[in-house]
Amino acid sequence: MEHGVQPERALELAMRCPLRRSFRAIDLGSARNRVLSHSLKSLVDDPRFDNSAMDGFAVKATDCIAPKAQLRIVGTSQAGAEPSLGISAGEACRIMTGAPLPEGADAIVMVEDTEVTGDTVSINGPARMGYIRRRAENLSIGQEALPTGALLSSACIALAGTMGHGTVRVIQKPKIAILSTGDELVQPGARLEAGQIYESNSHALASLVEAMGCEAIRHESANDSLNELRATLDTLSDYDAILTSGGVSMGEWDLVRRIMEEEGKIYFWRMRLRPGGPPLFGTWRGTPLFGLPGNPVSSLVVFHVLVAPWIAKSLGYHEEMGPRLSHRVSVTLEEDIPGAPGKLCLRRIRIRSEGGRLLATTHTHQGSGNMHSMVAHNGLTLLPPDTDGRKGETIEAMWLL
Ligand code: AMP
Ligand code: MG
Repeated sequence: MEHGVQPERALELAMRCPLRRSFRAIDLGSARNRVLSHSLKSLVDDPRFDNSAMDGFAVKATDCIAPKAQLRIVGTSQAGAEPSLGISAGEACRIMTGAPLPEGADAIVMVEDTEVTGDTVSINGPARMGYIRRRAENLSIGQEALPTGALLSSACIALAGTMGHGTVRVIQKPKIAILSTGDELVQPGARLEAGQIYESNSHALASLVEAMGCEAIRHESANDSLNELRATLDTLSDYDAILTSGGVSMGEWDLVRRIMEEEGKIYFWRMRLRPGGPPLFGTWRGTPLFGLPGNPVSSLVVFHVLVAPWIAKSLGYHEEMGPRLSHRVSVTLEEDIPGAPGKLCLRRIRIRSEGGRLLATTHTHQGSGNMHSMVAHNGLTLLPPDTDGRKGETIEAMWLL
């Protein structure tokens, strides 16, 4: 077991037990927010044929140089029609948006710039080649346009459809169990007795797990009893991973750490992180287990710094297009923000864009039990160990989504 590891080392160790990656095919209609397990190539050219970007007339540009040129209308090209029409010099063909360009035409005049009398059209505006959408100008057949690990947004789904894919292969959502621990915890909505508090971590962690493309299975919180904890962890060991919160510090009642030490396998305990120092990673009956801190802010911070990247790496998420919870940005500090000795320091900051820069300030106090501070702020500093942030300085930060 390693003790007090840097965040990069923590991820490296956790990657010794990655989530298993499997996939299945699903209809495009239910693919939103799923993650592609295989890249998608276009099955067609896009566009499939030269066509018009406007309703109007397909013409020869050289016929339209003289003001108010008069051209003979020889037919109509409609969307969905076979491209069998053609024009010769002095002729025009009515054309609808998306309809195939008739043979011989090299420009389009918008309908608004024309006037029809019988079978003659007067060209009163420009004939533009730019109104023609050329075959394969967007995508060529066989071209890869959606990479492995991309989160399927509405636009991605439309593109998959454009490329001819009615079904797509997506990553099977791993099932991640979430268990909070502590005698003091009561589910929100229930009655509190003296000394009890509302349990919030499992709800936050479940939503983060879901946002990272996995299925969250929240379990009733376990009391601080070795027997209860053992029995509960055993019931959870069939899931793909377990996240616990609480019980990983130095205290006598920090039973997750104790039971993992005595009966599980620990890869590391404690990270060089503030807040979020106490976590551990290991396996329980072979299932990867993150023991996250009980302090609500700490458990979230550790999820952002460690668990989210572990999920993304395990499942092969695309770095830019995959599911993510934050963007790495450079921010200019509007005040001094102290770092932490020997630890990566994640102070909560409010990031706003002003004058082409991202500015960062702090608002509420930064206690690791103060969940309100995670809502009042929208980012976390990434101050390296032993480094204070000075007013006016530009530092790296995570902008939370
Ligand atoms: P622990 O790590 O178990 O010592 O817990 C640290 C602090 O976090 C204590 O104040 C706990 O009451 C609190 N805490 C632990 N688990 C939760 C939870 N699931 N929801 C809200 N607060 C918690
Ligand atoms: Mg506890």
